[in-house]
Amino acid sequence: MDLQIILEEIYKEVQPFISHGKVADYIPKLAAVPLEKFGMAIQTLDGDLFTIGDAVENFSIQSISKAYTLTLALQFIGEDRLWKRVGREPSGNPFNSLVQLEYENGIPRNPFINAGALVLVDIILSNSKNPSQTLLDYVRQRSDNPGIDFDAEVAASEKKTGFRNSALANFLKSFGNLENNVDSVLDAYFHQCSLSMNCIDLAKSFMMLANHGLSPWSGKQVLTESQAKRINSLMLTCGTYDAVGDFAYRVGLPGKSGVGGGIAAFVPGKLSVCVWSPGLNSYGNSLAGTLALELLTTKTGMSIF
Ligand code: GLU
Repeated sequence: MDLQIILEEIYKEVQPFISHGKVADYIPKLAAVPLEKFGMAIQTLDGDLFTIGDAVENFSIQSISKAYTLTLALQFIGEDRLWKRVGREPSGNPFNSLVQLEYENGIPRNPFINAGALVLVDIILSNSKNPSQTLLDYVRQRSDNPGIDFDAEVAASEKKTGFRNSALANFLKSFGNLENNVDSVLDAYFHQCSLSMNCIDLAKSFMMLANHGLSPWSGKQVLTESQAKRINSLMLTCGTYDAVGDFAYRVGLPGKSGVGGGIAAFVPGKLSVCVWSPGLNSYGNSLAGTLALELLTTKTGMSIF
């Protein structure tokens, strides 16, 4: 099976759908991203890298970063303590919902909604003096790219418009589920959303999840095999907003999406893939990106099922 040819087929087949999505417009820098961008990168466990389109162009990874905060927080405090503060169920609600947090007493449904990510950031903050730098170092190592950085303009806009995230953080604090002060947690959260990376960086960074916890670039067992399996399960059930059932049905792989239009997904034991197309569907997932991943699993017959 030639994955380069498959990428070329996918690239052609998604073209008519690229303009059907809508670019996120809650901050100016995301609103300005051209709708017609499309990139995809596949990194295999055998060491091959395949790319197409705008795979080397940086974009705002937004909520994909929540997968890094989860793995990092897990390394700091372990499973028992972490799962006392965050749940493991799909939310069935928008990623920034306040209502659910109120009636579930400040325990976010899962680590991939905003409230869950704020708790994870709080854990990192309690265990590191400079949480943003700690996260940045971690992502650079996982991607094998020391040039990765935050986008200061995006981080500043997130802060300026982050009223709902600020409400969530204050809510969490009122329930006693934040140890640190609200402003520090929000600052680290807005920075993680602003990480600027390309499809290759992302595909390489998530090799740790495709490769049973072992990051091939550092040779480091970042997660135990069991932790990697469990995080993959969570990504399958909670990683793509309130459309996770549809994504699992169509793509059949664990993955994490962001409103910047990126989606990272993996076939455990085989490959890690990232697609970027900034036009989103009504749930906030990349429209052409979801289709591209669906085509990938259909054409290759690769599946976890
Ligand atoms: N910066 C966005 C927020 O915190 C992230 C959205 C996303 O990618 O889910 O609301």
